[in-house]
Amino acid sequence: KGETLAIVGESGCGKSTLGRAIVGLTRPTAGSVVIDGVDVTAYSRRDWRPIRNWAQTIFQDPYSSLNPRKTVGQILSAPLEVQAVPVPQRSEMLAELLASVGLHPDALTRYPHEFSGGQRQRIGIARAVCMSPKLIVCDEPVSALDVSVQSQIINLLVELQERLSMSYVFISHDLSVVQHIADRVAVMYLGRIVEVGSRKTLWAAPRHPYTRGLFDAAPDPELDSSSRRQRVLLEGEIPSPFAVPSGCCFRTRCPMAEARCAQEVPVLRETGSGAAVACHLAS
Ligand code: SF4
Repeated sequence: KGETLAIVGESGCGKSTLGRAIVGLTRPTAGSVVIDGVDVTAYSRRDWRPIRNWAQTIFQDPYSSLNPRKTVGQILSAPLEVQAVPVPQRSEMLAELLASVGLHPDALTRYPHEFSGGQRQRIGIARAVCMSPKLIVCDEPVSALDVSVQSQIINLLVELQERLSMSYVFISHDLSVVQHIADRVAVMYLGRIVEVGSRKTLWAAPRHPYTRGLFDAAPDPELDSSSRRQRVLLEGEIPSPFAVPSGCCFRTRCPMAEARCAQEVPVLRETGSGAAVACHLAS
């Protein structure tokens, strides 16, 4: 509770699908989704309706995730209607909501196209936190925004999390953003979690070759040129999810791969302090 778990990995590795499965927008083909002790894996849309306020989503694109034909007031009222909040309470709640995300009260009568990208994402955040969810899946919430606006949105998310004690699953390919916001980080490759651990531990000593390659590919101005030469760069393309390699799914790109890696799928094993890694050779 109150934690931010970041999911990182290259495009197409399944981060967004995982996020959609968590909030019931995609039915998982295996595994289970348990929110606050309740197994919601087999829940239909109708089953989700009364508990929709448990888990919400902030989408990547603030331009397409808001209905252009509805005013901000109508957009933000929808969750209140679904949860049958009494009408007299709604206007007070909407005013508080707008203030909490830094928007002026007159935003209620305006349409999404009248706002900048950053302001639209604030509306998306207001819609997500409207019913005080336990969990929010933030799916690349700042990647469509100007760099100058990104930090404002990240700071807003941090502030709201502290105030409302929400948990975040923060999906991102931007490691600098993840480094700023995450408590724990899970690294995903071809639909599998290959390493998980606290942000500090993972950044200080990544164990999985893919995690190391991913981190090494990110620009780090603090490294001097001699350190930079020692970096491991990821080569090759991520294989198709329809033709996942046998054994370890990373073996076709792994500089450490050996015969065993083609035969045995490495299990995600704990390495202490809540960390885990899926590699035959990682210590
Ligand atoms: Fe590389 Fe083998 Fe570890 Fe997979 S199991 S990451 S192929 S060393």
